[in-house]
Amino acid sequence: MPAPQLIWFRRDLRLADQAAVRAATAAGPVVALYVLDDETPAVDASLPAGWDQGWAMGAAQRWWLHHSLVSLDADLCARGGGLVLRRGRCAGIVPAVAAEIGAGAVHCLGHVERWARADEEAVAKRCLLHVHDGALLARPDSVRTGTGGRYRIFTPWWRRLREQMPPPRPEPAPETMTFVDGVASDRLDDWALLPTRPDWASGFRIWTPGEAGALARLEAFEDDVPAYDEARNLPSEEGTSRLSPHLAMGEISVRTVWHAVATHNAAEPYLRELGWRDFAANILDQFPDHGEVPGRDLFSRFPFRDDPESLRAWQQGRTGYPIVDAGMRQLWATGWMHNRVRMITASFLVKHLLIDWRHGERWFWDCLVDADLAANSLGWQWVMGSGVDSSPFNRVFAPVGQSAKFDAAPYIRHWVPELRALSDKAIHAPWENGGARGYPPPIVNHEFARARALDAYRRAR
Ligand code: FAD
Repeated sequence: MPAPQLIWFRRDLRLADQAAVRAATAAGPVVALYVLDDETPAVDASLPAGWDQGWAMGAAQRWWLHHSLVSLDADLCARGGGLVLRRGRCAGIVPAVAAEIGAGAVHCLGHVERWARADEEAVAKRCLLHVHDGALLARPDSVRTGTGGRYRIFTPWWRRLREQMPPPRPEPAPETMTFVDGVASDRLDDWALLPTRPDWASGFRIWTPGEAGALARLEAFEDDVPAYDEARNLPSEEGTSRLSPHLAMGEISVRTVWHAVATHNAAEPYLRELGWRDFAANILDQFPDHGEVPGRDLFSRFPFRDDPESLRAWQQGRTGYPIVDAGMRQLWATGWMHNRVRMITASFLVKHLLIDWRHGERWFWDCLVDADLAANSLGWQWVMGSGVDSSPFNRVFAPVGQSAKFDAAPYIRHWVPELRALSDKAIHAPWENGGARGYPPPIVNHEFARARALDAYRRAR
């Protein structure tokens, strides 16, 4: 009788193209385990207020996690088993469950966050752990320069990764699995991952978390691949795949997405975006504290302003800049924001309001259903200009210009109903046309803010 195998699910909540599932299933009867571990401390003691919970999963993503675990459990039940849930430190619980079932080995996918790495090390000290690839297109340390170094800049890195592509073809989910019975599990409802009152997640019903939902989303997007390059910058259109929360929770493998998209015309721009996801992991792998510590030293002494009132106005979508407010309201209502608008809102916080990027990163972490430490920190540091690969600081997004350039009028009308009556031309800057009832004037003047930001940068240098 082969020894039981423990599958340790992490942010890879799927059965298809999941190497840990395949290897464990092939080796013996399995126990499928998910551990809710909130011990993910931030590193830097000088962080702004609000960091006491470290990188514990944010509220929006907990909503997602709840539904994703329900879905995975149902898929395991359909194969005669179920998911075992435990809460606490992975480093203690995984070896304890392995001992409890007499596991021959533990199988998981490898992840790049520093606590994920630390957990792998700690678990491997106490039992036989197989860490499989599959969370990314390629292992970050496998993409090397001609002299064996690591890349820090996207374009050359992408060129090299592209040479290594396509990734291996995705493997189907095992049709049959044998399970070890009788392992105690927490009740999912006791974890209280869903909001109680008020139910701020009512707008999240646009999503279908879980592996089946991810596949359906991919299939729906495939028809749009040829138009992606043009449509992806337009927030008023559904021109992007919206696969990010599924990818962040690992409900679909990035290799599955790659192979499905690559069969279509004009797939390259989309494949490149998948490349950004791997690049973000490549940066986090090299700079494990990239979520807290600026990649460029001068931003450690940058003269940020302490302005809780403006921060709140930004969070609540009350800055008086329609494109910024539309984005922040979309984020709050749906747990997601269009990429172009993420850049505009982030730039507004750090340059127009001169507020520390880590406040924004933290808010996104709590509100995004696709929150991902690597992508989020890369996005914020890129916009701030503080990252190892980033936009120059003196590139200050003009919210009105961006809004008009990317035809955001329908998007603004949807998310900022106070402005519904304004014309396509007037809606980007309502104050220039006498304002709109119930909508605030701009929190700060654009020209003044731009000059102030550039001056702050000069002083920091
Ligand atoms: P598509 O355009 O359909 O792209 C396909 C996939 O490629 C995405 O699902 C995502 O996995 C990946 N991708 C695309 N752009 C990027 C990028 N710039 N960086 C990394 N991966 C990318 N993305 C997250 O997944 N989680 C985050 O927490 C996150 N925070 C961000 C914060 C800021 C300030 C900025 C500017 C960007 C952030 N992004 C983040 C990147 C990007 O905005 C989202 O991945 C994208 O909007 C998701 O929508 P989509 O799935 O429709 O993307």
